[in-house]
Amino acid sequence: RGDRAMALSKPHVLIVAGSDCSGGAGIARDIETLAGFGLRAALAVTAVTVQTHDAVRAVELCEPGLVEAQMRAALEANRIAAIKIGMLGSRAIAERVAGVLADHAGIPVVLDPVIASSSGRPLIGPDALDWLRENLMPLCALVTPNLPELALLSGSAPALTEAEIGRQAKLLLAAGTRAILAKGGHAEGTEAADLLFRPLVEPLRFTSVRLQGSRRGTGCMLASGIAAGLATGKALETAIAAAKKTVSAHWCPA
Ligand code: PLP
Repeated sequence: RGDRAMALSKPHVLIVAGSDCSGGAGIARDIETLAGFGLRAALAVTAVTVQTHDAVRAVELCEPGLVEAQMRAALEANRIAAIKIGMLGSRAIAERVAGVLADHAGIPVVLDPVIASSSGRPLIGPDALDWLRENLMPLCALVTPNLPELALLSGSAPALTEAEIGRQAKLLLAAGTRAILAKGGHAEGTEAADLLFRPLVEPLRFTSVRLQGSRRGTGCMLASGIAAGLATGKALETAIAAAKKTVSAHWCPA
C-alpha cells in the first residue's frame, strides 16, 4: 500500500528500451539520466543485448506480448508523466508499443529511433522503418534521429548540408511526426548543432561543444533527459536545452 501511494504520487518516466550489459547504452544510461533529474524510472524491456564497448555479441528480442504487458503494468502501477522509447528491435514489438501509446495519448513520448549500434550492428530490421515513420512517429511529441537515422527514415541519402537536413525533416513532418530534433546537424569548429523542426515554425538551433569520437549512450541520455523535462512540465525547447546541458556536462565535466 505504501509503495503504491508513493508510486502514484511521484512522477515516473516509462523507459521502453533494450539493456546493454556493458552499461554504455540502453536502459542503464536511461535510468542514470533520469536519476540525475530527480525522476524515477519504470521499465519495459524490449531486448537483452550482449555488448562490450567495441562490439555487439548477441541480441535477444523480448516476445512482443511481453513488452506490451510490461508497459501496461508499469502504467497501472505508477504515475507515468512521460515515456522514452529507445531500441525497439522489431516491427512486431513496435506495433505493440504503438497500441499502448494510442491508449495513453495524453502522455508525452520521446522516441530515439535506434536503428544500429554505435559499432554498426543493425538493432531493428529495415522492414520496420516505413512502418515506424507512418504509424509510431506520429504518436510521439518528439523524435530524435541522428543524421544517418534521419536519412534512413526519410528514404534519402545522408544529408551533407543544413538545407538537405531540413528537406529530410520536412518529409517526416509531412508524414505526421510532430517534432524532429536532428542531431549533429552542423559543425562549426568545436561546436555541434542540433536542429528542432516543427510544422509552421522556424527551425530552432541548439549548439553545444562537439564531443570527440563516438560516445556510446549519448542518444539514450539526450532522449531520456528530454523526457525528464517533459515529465516535469517543461516546454519542449526548454527540455531540450536542459538535456543537452546535462549530456555535455557528463562528457566534459567542468
Ligand atoms: N539501446 C541499446 C540497447 C543499444 O545497444 C544502443 C546502441 O548500441 C542504443 C540504444 C543507442 O545508443 P546511442 O545512445 O549511442 O544512440
